[in-house]
Amino acid sequence: MTSIDAVAHKYRVLNCGHLAHGLAALLSAAEANALSYLDLVEQLVDLELQGRETNRLAANLRKAGFPVIKRLEEFDDRHQTTITKRQVSQLLDLRFLEERANLVFIGPPGVGKTHLAVGIGLKALEAGYKVLFTTALALVETLELAELRGELKKKIAGLLKFDLPIIDELGYLPMNRQGLYNLFQLINGLYEYRSVILTTNKDFTNWGEFFRDENVAVPIVDRLIHHSHVFMLGGESYRLKQKIGN
Ligand code: ADP
Ligand code: MG
Repeated sequence: MTSIDAVAHKYRVLNCGHLAHGLAALLSAAEANALSYLDLVEQLVDLELQGRETNRLAANLRKAGFPVIKRLEEFDDRHQTTITKRQVSQLLDLRFLEERANLVFIGPPGVGKTHLAVGIGLKALEAGYKVLFTTALALVETLELAELRGELKKKIAGLLKFDLPIIDELGYLPMNRQGLYNLFQLINGLYEYRSVILTTNKDFTNWGEFFRDENVAVPIVDRLIHHSHVFMLGGESYRLKQKIGN
């Protein structure tokens, strides 16, 4: 007669750690509930599948590099009234991802742009998409480094593996010519192939000034706003409100 430990060991050999771990509990529950053989074998395989799914989501969450975890459920739509709850919930069917549409959140500091971007990113991640959060500054630095090493193409190909890149704080600092060119290469690769979420404090009409060069700004902006949902956020800074009290 074999033992649970011996069977669990065989499962481990097959890399079914979740199964090995939960075997004893599953077997006692199956006995207590007089489970059919078929139900039991299904529960066994589900245990392993669920465990793997949980691990995969945890790994994707690590790779996403969110600076903070901000959930849409924590977003107070009584404070932020320039975007409606309905507009936000409409995004959550994630159709924009299927349609390769971009989301652009424009507005002054503290109005919830990053919160919304992270919240939607988390929903996409939980739905199985691979998400990458980066600030525009960090992105440009990464691309610059890759370019210096002659690996810009490779780096961009790596970034295109994510289903949903989130570029936060575009336009906060001016960019040099090479930075702009590198960014353009990336945006070109993403265009009509991947959705992007962008947050920025600059209205599109001011982007020429930020990019310092209308000739590069126009095609970048063109690609970014083509097929995009643009949300102009306003109102008071939530941070400021928290500081001075209600
Ligand atoms: P922005 O990116 O527009 O500068 P953030 O999204 O970083 O602003 O918001 C600043 C802080 O205020 C964050 O901690 C964020 O979670 C919070 N916050 C902003 N707007 C709201 C809101 N409507 N409801 C709840 N928290 C908010
Ligand atoms: Mg922000």
